[in-house]
Amino acid sequence: MSNILIGCIADDFTGATDLANNFVRHGLKTILTIGVPPPGFDPLGTQVIVIALKIRTIEPAIAVREALDALQGLQSLGAKQIYFKYCSTFDSTPQGNIGPITDALMAAMGTDFTVACPAFPGAGRTIYQGHLFVNQQLLSDSGMRHHPLTPMTNSNLVQVLQEQTPQKVGLVDYLVTRLGEQAISEQILKLKKEGVKIAILDCVDNLDLIAYGQALHHMPLVTAGSGIAIGLAQSLVKQLKIGGEPASKLPSPAGHAAVISGSCSIATNQQVKHFLSLGLPVYEVNPIALAQGEVSLADIISWAKHHIGEKPILIYATATPDQVKKNQAALGTKEVSELIEQTLALTAKALVENGVRQLIVAGGETSGAVVQELGLTYMQIGQQISPGVPWTYAANDQNQFHLALKSGNFGEEDFFSQAFSLLNW
Ligand code: ADP
Repeated sequence: MSNILIGCIADDFTGATDLANNFVRHGLKTILTIGVPPPGFDPLGTQVIVIALKIRTIEPAIAVREALDALQGLQSLGAKQIYFKYCSTFDSTPQGNIGPITDALMAAMGTDFTVACPAFPGAGRTIYQGHLFVNQQLLSDSGMRHHPLTPMTNSNLVQVLQEQTPQKVGLVDYLVTRLGEQAISEQILKLKKEGVKIAILDCVDNLDLIAYGQALHHMPLVTAGSGIAIGLAQSLVKQLKIGGEPASKLPSPAGHAAVISGSCSIATNQQVKHFLSLGLPVYEVNPIALAQGEVSLADIISWAKHHIGEKPILIYATATPDQVKKNQAALGTKEVSELIEQTLALTAKALVENGVRQLIVAGGETSGAVVQELGLTYMQIGQQISPGVPWTYAANDQNQFHLALKSGNFGEEDFFSQAFSLLNW
């Protein structure tokens, strides 16, 4: 029988990792797959599976089709509850895609009621009387009003969602929420009688997440940001007495260790500087030399093959803002970025092919390029190295290895050495 308590469909990759991280930190073993897992996929005994899609801003019809494929994949793995995850700022347009995907999932699952709650109080996203706040500002006063793809100019989520669905949208308001699980369940029954099919949930602090976790763990479909996962996980852990081995436990580390850094943010510059001070093997990728053919990818890979060993190595393009500007002026902004992302992604692939089994990648775009080039199928989420950056156990068709993806500004100065020592404890 399947152990999968919750099967999630996440509308983008970083949202998927954020969600998976919340489940693990609150006691449920979680695996993230890049796209729908193939038939016969082994979920490794995890309790949550998160399918990362990229459907936030694509054509609604295509987004719906991909979400339904994911639903089918999760159902065939025996997932008991389905969780549709979107951004905590409810990123969407009047055309979708939150409404259309919710409608399609409800129809396919034959369920006539669900909830919608992007709140994540720990990250400053709260909902009061249906209005979403980003820290102290209404969503429509926050930077989100200028978002290039999904400008959010209305904070009233009941209205925002109602524009995206023909089904009736209602509200579980805070006067009910603060009374706890029982009151929430009664309010849901009342809303159902009034013909409401999707209820926005007011939520202003972590206690509300817990109350919702208790009230919602039997609901076949939940739609939310990553906050509600905290309440659901805590409720399930308590109810099913899940314990023993920590949810973040990964297989033991093996093989060589390496860092690939394509981030030029302040934090990464400091982290690279710190690594340089350790006297370990390092290689600086110079985009101008690369573009002029003075060095090639083959040279970088050959250097790496000679230097991987007992100690971690670092291959970096990380540079100061001045240097980045010079490179961009010389080669073009888009061109230099692509050249470095491609070079580092191919280098990462070669490292894994040559026995690196503990890999850290610094940089959001750089990580995206590496994940794609490695052809990853899944990542099991392990312990946090620093907030928002967990170790994972990843796999492609050929290899399994430990992988950490760090976006630019995350992590302390000694992040790289801290990460390897954490893994090798
Ligand atoms: P972050 O998470 O810090 O934003 P990203 O990987 O998302 O890091 O973005 C950094 C971008 O800068 C990438 O496109 C990368 O290719 C580019 N880049 C890296 N090194 C250099 C460099 N030396 N000169 C110019 N661009 C660079």
